[in-house]
Amino acid sequence: MNDDIDLKQYIDNIPDFPKPGILFYDISSLMRNADAWQLATSRMAHAVMPWQPDQLAAIESRGFLTAAPLATRLGCGIIMLRKPGKLPGETVSLSYDLEYGSDSLHIQAEAIKPGQRVVVTDDLLATGGTLAASIALLRKAGANVVGASVMIELAGLRGRDKIDVPLHALLTYK
Ligand code: AMP
Repeated sequence: MNDDIDLKQYIDNIPDFPKPGILFYDISSLMRNADAWQLATSRMAHAVMPWQPDQLAAIESRGFLTAAPLATRLGCGIIMLRKPGKLPGETVSLSYDLEYGSDSLHIQAEAIKPGQRVVVTDDLLATGGTLAASIALLRKAGANVVGASVMIELAGLRGRDKIDVPLHALLTYK
């Protein structure tokens, strides 16, 4: 695939999903195209490489999809940040506020060796609440969070302002 290709053409924009007023940016359509997915993940890996992570932290659930190819390319491990009740063994957790209500993320207590360099990844940055909470949880578990990597940034929502580590976004929308 031509390296200059505009990857945005592969992201479907779905109005009023999952609720009225939300424009949903769907990476499913990008993932269906093997060449586009390969190019997108290789560009993300290239941007993350200088941060030299020991582990990639993947935010449930679409962050699992960005983390796996990046970790393989970078030769590092993967840690899952999961919703309640999904991880066996002792976990460390953190609750965070959503637009309506709250949610929590969990990580296995043994997942991180103190001071390990961790880059956190997700498909999309909107308000930044999920990513900021993930960074706080990783720190609580002893990580040195050295960067964040998302496929899509909705820049108009200014989520980036909540993130206090270097942030790479592959594709930016207003
Ligand atoms: P936020 O915490 O507001 O930054 O929301 C980010 C999380 O919600 C990510 O895990 C995304 O998968 C999901 N998300 C939020 N807004 C959208 C959107 N417009 N399109 C697709 N996913 C979204």
